[in-house]
Amino acid sequence: MLDLSLPQLQTSAFAGRPAAAPPPAPDAARRAGHLWDSHGRRIRDLRLSITDRCNFRCLYCLEPDTTFLPSRELVGAADHVRLARIAASLGIEKIRLTGGEPTLHPALGEIIAGVAASGVRDVAITTNGATLERRTLERWRTLGLRRVTISIDAVEPATFARLTRSRYDVARVLDGIQATLDAGFEETKLNAVVIRGLNEDQIVPLTELARRYDVEMRFIEFMPLDDGREWRREDVVAADEIVAAIDRVHRLVPAGRDDPSATALRYRFADGAPGSIGVIAPVSRPFCGACSRLRITADGKVRPCLFSTREYDLRPLLVAGADDDAIRQFLADATWTKQAGHGIATSAFERADRTMSAIGG
Ligand code: SAM
Ligand code: SF4
Repeated sequence: MLDLSLPQLQTSAFAGRPAAAPPPAPDAARRAGHLWDSHGRRIRDLRLSITDRCNFRCLYCLEPDTTFLPSRELVGAADHVRLARIAASLGIEKIRLTGGEPTLHPALGEIIAGVAASGVRDVAITTNGATLERRTLERWRTLGLRRVTISIDAVEPATFARLTRSRYDVARVLDGIQATLDAGFEETKLNAVVIRGLNEDQIVPLTELARRYDVEMRFIEFMPLDDGREWRREDVVAADEIVAAIDRVHRLVPAGRDDPSATALRYRFADGAPGSIGVIAPVSRPFCGACSRLRITADGKVRPCLFSTREYDLRPLLVAGADDDAIRQFLADATWTKQAGHGIATSAFERADRTMSAIGG
């Protein structure tokens, strides 16, 4: 398991290679009007990270002494909205706002409204849920936010504190979940990263949340994207093990994937209880073949894959006032370079320089 005692000396969540413009894609891909990669996958989902800041320091994501990027290096709210509109014109159907912690963004309402008006059919957010309030949530819903995913890795307070290293109590997150349900979104889901020796004992208590709140509780395999760079294969609790642990207490019935590109394999409860379980298994059962995602970081780097070791800097174009066609071409070129898969399970696997908080999960 992770050695929590190791001191970490980090100065930036991304001390990586210089990002550059992508090489030109073939003309057909540039003119397609949709985003295609060179492996025949069409990109329909955009993860838009709107901040690298966070009020948690989850030990699988962000180290306590990591510094954040200067504000002047971040993409502004108006440009997030502009990128959403351009992405929609390229056939992007869903945009998930993420971070860092997206709810910390002072202009989140403006971003939600702009993204919702961009032409995409679905606007979602992923949040740690620590500061959610019903009135604010209702405002976001009326502005066009349709779906909310809240991360909660433990219900036992000491385990929650140990994992998140935050000053917020798990009770705040549970209140945030209730407030989200009360605000009437189309869908609310919960996320938990499971790490061996840390929160395996929370799998069943977290499952009870699915049944209590009638939501999907999704368990995510630990990925090598932690700021502390302590990920080891042995720390991953594989999807099969997670499902078996739940099945011993509440029999599960496989329910497949929502669609082929969906990240989660779903299960219902055999006893007909409300709620469902999802397992996201990038390590033990990679789903790269049907990937439909593209990411843009808070500082404007286009990342064709979560595990990209190369990324492309879009911000100079935004700053220089490049026209929409130039940005469309840049996105088409970057998408074309998307790698076939991450290969975590292979010996050739190369870790990305960015951490999850600096990419946008
Ligand atoms: N701060 C928000 C939150 O925690 O929900 C949004 C950003 S966070 C980077 C998005 C998702 O990535 C969270 O559900 C988090 O649990 C997950 N995540 C972060 N680091 C991870 C890792 N090393 N392996 C697997 N999932 C990770
Ligand atoms: Fe922050 Fe989310 Fe990373 Fe936790 S997982 S440190 S809440 S960005």
